[in-house]
Amino acid sequence: MNVKELLSGNRGSQSFEPWTVFDQYTWRQLLMGDLAALYANLNLVHKSIMESIGYSWSNTHWHVAAGRDYHPYTWMITHAGFKDKAVFALDVWNWNGNNAVFSGELYPNATRRKDTIDAAIAAMERWSSGIFTCSSCGIETPLTERHSFWAGGYCNVCWEREYKEKEAHTNYN
Ligand SMILES: [Zn+2]
Repeated sequence: MNVKELLSGNRGSQSFEPWTVFDQYTWRQLLMGDLAALYANLNLVHKSIMESIGYSWSNTHWHVAAGRDYHPYTWMITHAGFKDKAVFALDVWNWNGNNAVFSGELYPNATRRKDTIDAAIAAMERWSSGIFTCSSCGIETPLTERHSFWAGGYCNVCWEREYKEKEAHTNYN
């Protein structure tokens, strides 16, 4: 039995997941390079993995090992509706993609881009130390006090002020 045949038995349940994990130094180099080429190459790899193992791979299965214990975080870059096609959105989530850890923009300007990557790496380091940045007010807060609404994370104050009410009126279907 070859790999494709073996894995095709799991296709219905999708009980396996192909992970591609970059170390944070390689990740930084990739993001500082040609973003249009990176975007195209990631899509190419994504497509060939799907075809070779028959997995309907979502585009959020790229990971970067960062933070205190080199935990994998999920990340992706997209055009995100920017008029300028040279600008990419960078989004980082926790390992399973359920919680947003960072979002920012990658600009052609090297200094601005480096600032975004530094901020993303700092956010992963904080997350691995049990701290998150509130998606609404930006205040650093212990993860034990984090309230989730969609992929955002909110502190107690913002939760009580606004998001608790929104959550109560949200139908997740
Ligand atoms: Zn807040």
